[in-house]
Amino acid sequence: MRFQKFSALVPAVLALVIVSCAVSSFDPNTGEVRASASSSSLVSQGIREFDKMKREKRISQDPAHNAQVQRVASHLKSVIQIPNARWEFVVFEDPTPNAFALPGGKVGVHTGLFQITQNDAGLAAVLGHEIAHVVLNHSQQRVNQATGVALGTVLLDTVLSANGADKSTRAVAATGAAAAGTVGLILPYSRKAELQSDQLGTLYMARAGYNPEESIKLWERFSAWRIKKGESESPEFLRTHPLDQSRILALKNFLPTAQREYKPR
Ligand SMILES: [Zn+2]
Repeated sequence: MRFQKFSALVPAVLALVIVSCAVSSFDPNTGEVRASASSSSLVSQGIREFDKMKREKRISQDPAHNAQVQRVASHLKSVIQIPNARWEFVVFEDPTPNAFALPGGKVGVHTGLFQITQNDAGLAAVLGHEIAHVVLNHSQQRVNQATGVALGTVLLDTVLSANGADKSTRAVAATGAAAAGTVGLILPYSRKAELQSDQLGTLYMARAGYNPEESIKLWERFSAWRIKKGESESPEFLRTHPLDQSRILALKNFLPTAQREYKPR
């Protein structure tokens, strides 16, 4: 009798654990995404940090770069659902090849990225990947995995690196965050998170009308750029997005799936 009562409880307890871990999943066979929305505090923090960045960093006035980003953004937005997104795409003057997406639909592109993206499809590959991290709620997962008290530290690192802070500045900031009772999360996304974002990002670009094959070329250009520059000069983007042959191979294996959803414009 007592045992029966206990076993009846097990499913309820499991359900609780699953809900509290904010599980997100992505089925690469169907393209189906099940993700809990980013928490409202993470969203408002993303929006706040982005506003701050717009005040403090130089915004590019280059007409060609801005037109390209807005053009690619409009096609991507039409195929990506983020509940209550307040989409905004801004080009920042910064020579490091980097792009980032924050909860709330705030996306930044550095002028240094264009040498690597080279065309609309290349840019769509990077932005699709970054936005996939937001859709799949990977920042929230990193926060949850830490201790639950680290809310915002992930964003702090994203923001500092987007502002070109060097490693030591960021280490000091992380120490400060740790002293304040949070945990430094100067961590790359997990391999699994990177793979999911590569796949979902490639689906997004295909649905938006860009040939998904271009994503392979883009990541190969990024990889070649890093080899040329050397590990020590590797920008934040490549430290938080470890790029190796196995990652590119996994994307190649996924290509037939993405091709099925490709609608050339
Ligand atoms: Zn990534």
